Formats: sequence, C-alpha cells, structure tokens
Amino acid sequence: MAKPIQKVVILGGGAAGWLTAGTLAAEHLSAQPDGLEVVLVESPDVKILGVGEGTWPTMRATLNKMGIKEADFIRECDAAFKQGAKFCQWTHNDKQDFYYHPLVLPHNFNQINLAQYWSNEYELSFADAVCPQSQLCEQGLAPKQISTPEYAHVANYAYHLDAGKFTQFLKKHCLERLGVQYIQDHIDSVQGDPNSDIKGLVGRKSGLISGDLFIDCSGFAARLIADHYQVAHISQKNVLFNDTAIAAHVKYPQPDSPIASHTVSTATANGWIWDIGLQSRRGVGHVFASDYVSHAEAEQQLIDYITATSEMNADEISCKTLNLNPGYREKFWVKNCVAIGVSAGFIEPLEASALVLVELSAAMLSENLPADRAVMEIAAKRFNETFNYRWQRIIDFLKLHYCISQRDDSNYWRDHRDPASWPESLSELLAMWQYQGPWKKDFTHIEEVFPSASYQYVLYGMGYQHKTHSRASRTRQQLHLAQAGFAQNQQITEKMLAHLPAHRRLINHIIQA
Ligand SMILES: Cc1cc2nc3c(=O)[nH]c(=O)nc-3n(C[C@H](O)[C@H](O)[C@H](O)COP(=O)(O)OP(=O)(O)OC[C@H]3O[C@@H](n4cnc5c(N)ncnc54)[C@H](O)[C@@H]3O)c2cc1C
Repeated sequence: MAKPIQKVVILGGGAAGWLTAGTLAAEHLSAQPDGLEVVLVESPDVKILGVGEGTWPTMRATLNKMGIKEADFIRECDAAFKQGAKFCQWTHNDKQDFYYHPLVLPHNFNQINLAQYWSNEYELSFADAVCPQSQLCEQGLAPKQISTPEYAHVANYAYHLDAGKFTQFLKKHCLERLGVQYIQDHIDSVQGDPNSDIKGLVGRKSGLISGDLFIDCSGFAARLIADHYQVAHISQKNVLFNDTAIAAHVKYPQPDSPIASHTVSTATANGWIWDIGLQSRRGVGHVFASDYVSHAEAEQQLIDYITATSEMNADEISCKTLNLNPGYREKFWVKNCVAIGVSAGFIEPLEASALVLVELSAAMLSENLPADRAVMEIAAKRFNETFNYRWQRIIDFLKLHYCISQRDDSNYWRDHRDPASWPESLSELLAMWQYQGPWKKDFTHIEEVFPSASYQYVLYGMGYQHKTHSRASRTRQQLHLAQAGFAQNQQITEKMLAHLPAHRRLINHIIQA
C-alpha cells in the first residue's frame, strides 16, 4: 500500500486541533512550497469545549517549537504561571488540611531519594522539606525573575490560560505564520469503507476534502474514530466516578489583586472544586459524580465556595454545566486516522492531564510521521501501545488521590477507598509501597506523564506511612547526604523567597514590556 504522506487533514478546531496543526506544520515546514500540507476543518455549528485552563510544563516547549513568543502568549491568552497544585481537604474533611503537588523534582533527585529519610514526624511537610516551590506558592511568588529569559525558569512552571483565547491565539499563529490551511465547514459524512483508509471528509459546503492522513480532533463527537471506525470506548466510571462539571468565572475584588501561581483543588463530599487564577479573573468549577449528589446541591456547593472566597454575591454567578464521559478509546490510531484530544478519551481534569496528552500525541505523531503509507501500520502500533500505557498510568495516578484519603463523610469517599474500585495496576503498586516508596524503577517509560516524584508528593502529602523503613536510611554516609540535602533545600528556598517577584508583578511587567 505504498503512497507518500503529503496532506494531513485535521477535523476540529479546539485546543487539540490547533496544537496538533501547529506542531505538525512547524516541524514539517508547511509554510514552504514543498512542506507538508496541513488542513484544519472546523464546524461553524459545533462549539469548542472552551474549558481547560491548567497545563503542564511541557506546554513551554510546545509553544516554543511553534515559534511563539512567550510574552505574546501571556498577553493574548490572559495567561498566568502555574507552579503546581494545592490539594485542600483531600486527606481529612478539615479546613486546615492541605498538601502540594509542585512541578519541581525533590532536591538532588538524580542522586538521592530524600523520601527515604523524611517521615511524618519531620518538622516540615514533605514538599517543604524537599523543594522550594510549595513555599513560593504560599507566598504568591513568581517562578522566575523579571530578567529570566522567555521559557526559562528559576522554579519549573506551566501556565493557567483562558481556553477560548488560547484557541483563537493558536489559530491566528497557525494561519499567519505556519502555513496551515483552514476550512470552516460542517462534516456530514466520510468517504471510505470502515475496513480501509479514509479517502476524504465530505463538507456541507466544500464537498470532498481529500487527504493522506486524518486526525480526529472533533471532541466528544469523535466523528471519525467512533462514528466511522466504531472503536470502542473503555469506560472508567467505575474507577473515577465524576461525570459532571459546573464551571463559573469569578471576578477579582481589584484589577491588581494577587494571582495564585498554583491551582487550588478543594475536595467536597462528592467531588472537588478547581480554582485557577488568570490575569483578569478566576476560573472555578465543581467536578462531581451525579450518582452521589444532585445537580442542584453540587451547584449550591460551588456557589457557596465562590461567595466564601470572593466578593461576588450568589445572584452575580453564572454557571455552565458540562457532561463528562470518563474513559478512553481501545485504539487511537486506526488505518489512516489518529484520534487526539477528547475524541481519544477524557478523564476528570484533576491533574490537568488532557492538554499534556494532546501535546505528547502531536509530538509523537510529528516525530514519527510515516513518510509513506507502507509503514503506517508500524507507526500506528507504536502509537497505540504508548498511549494505552499513558492512559492507564494517568488513571492510576488520579485514583491514588482518592484511594489513600481518610475521608469517611460520604458514600462517595467510602466507595473510592474501597479496593474493589482500584485498577489492578494501582493495587499492585500500593502493595509494593507498603514496604518501599515509589522510585524510578516503578515508572520506566521515557516521558512518563507523572514520574515517581509526583507519586511521592501525593503519597507523603497525604500522610501515607510505610510499614517498614528502608535499609538505605541506616547507612551513616547516606544519612549524612540526606541531611545535607534537606539543609541545602532550605537555603535555596530562603534565597528564592527573598529574590523572586510577586506573581502579579511579573505578569504586569511582561504584558507592559
Ligand atoms: C470541565 C473541564 C475542565 C477541564 N480542565 C482541563 C484542564 O485544566 N487542563 C487540561 O489539560 N484539560 C482540561 N480539560 C480538557 C480540555 O478542555 C480539552 O482537552 C481541550 O479543550 C481539547 O478539546 P478538543 O479540542 O479535543 O475538543 P473541542 O474543544 O470540543 O473541539 C472539537 C472541535 O471539533 C469540531 N467538530 C465537531 N464535530 C464536527 C463536524 N461534524 N464537522 C466539523 N467540525 C466538527 C468542533 O467545531 C470543534 O472545533 C477540561 C475539560 C473539561 C470538560
């Protein structure tokens, strides 16, 4: 089946569509006459999701590779810096209870596993003991200096962004700079037999849009991967119960109010509330399980949260409901069609894992883009294996936040803590971790979405106790190294606390410069 791959057609103009278009077009020189032809088709009638405000540090490299200036992105997308997530009331239903999942690795992570020397009796929380970032967040500081170059960091960071503005920004960049072609049309049907390649998409106005490779970024519609190829959806609702989100925008009391440089995620009786600070507003939403709480009650919990944390009155708050279907496709690449974004799968946005999966999918596709149809099956097999693994690891990691909780105030939490609802792979890890904590051997793939450091932050942040202490901590030399590591981290933390600017100040500087 030899045929050169010269034209890629992307169905869908949400964040997944434009990130994929930008990644392919930048790497395969679409703006040049002999570059890869990239065409994006978007329906004028189907709105984009327009939510998704938390990202992962990979976004810096993704934007940089597309030739985007960080300052332009921050100015146009109402963006702010994100240094991790603060999880409140996840371990106990107690307003004092919180822990951080920061974005920096524990101090000297490549030389020593400080987690082996830290215990719940230590004077500092795990995150504070091993990295500076939780304290930077608590103090509302930026992750870099005013003089730090674009995309470089003092403390590792991602972004919070306005999803609607981000999509428009990417679209403009892709069309004006990267040579992506755009067709606004609704796709009614697909030309091609479901047992073979897609020949083209049939638009209401434009007729046949032909191509060599088709990317399904059509969101929950999953127009190609599900409607055309009938690839099964593997539901995860029995593991991650949340299936509804209610989102709202929250005004700052003053235009120059401080901006949090971390996501705040507060557990409720039947879900959790996200709180994300942008330049001009906060984005807040309640993700919950409709099997356990009514829509009206969940909405009231969100309104109570907003009125308690802002100066808004209940009658000023306007809410938008989104129905979620947790799960992922059995395969992501079939014949000459690849699903990226929500069409490939959706899991609650607890750790902002959706856009990072889009970036990783677009990057793998771009790097391994088969030059000829003859080798496409091999590329598809590798892609499917990689993303099957990634979805399973993400599900394990999200479930970990629930299953080691000590909350007992609702059936929701009791059911989450019931081992019958845990994936087997997570049960195995937890069985091992009773005796030895998470370390690099547990996660061996390159570009793990959540490395062992992430598991350490969640486990020890939630007060997890091993049954035995590792023997490694008994050697004098190792103990000395660990003590030095903890002390060095405190020195670095003090230095950063003294020198980094307030988050709002850095943002103002960037948008004014
Ligand atoms: C409540 C909530 C919170 C979230 N928070 C985060 C977060 O913090 N971080 C994160 O990484 N992700 C988050 N996500 C996920 C994130 O929103 C998505 O990953 C992201 O928006 C990408 O969506 P998409 O492009 O796949 O689909 P969509 O935005 O739905 O785009 C689909 C596109 O397909 C087009 N289309 C559909 N059918 C047709 C057709 N027949 N013909 C032509 N065009 C068609 C539409 O017009 C549209 O352009 C969140 C999601 C939800 C629901």
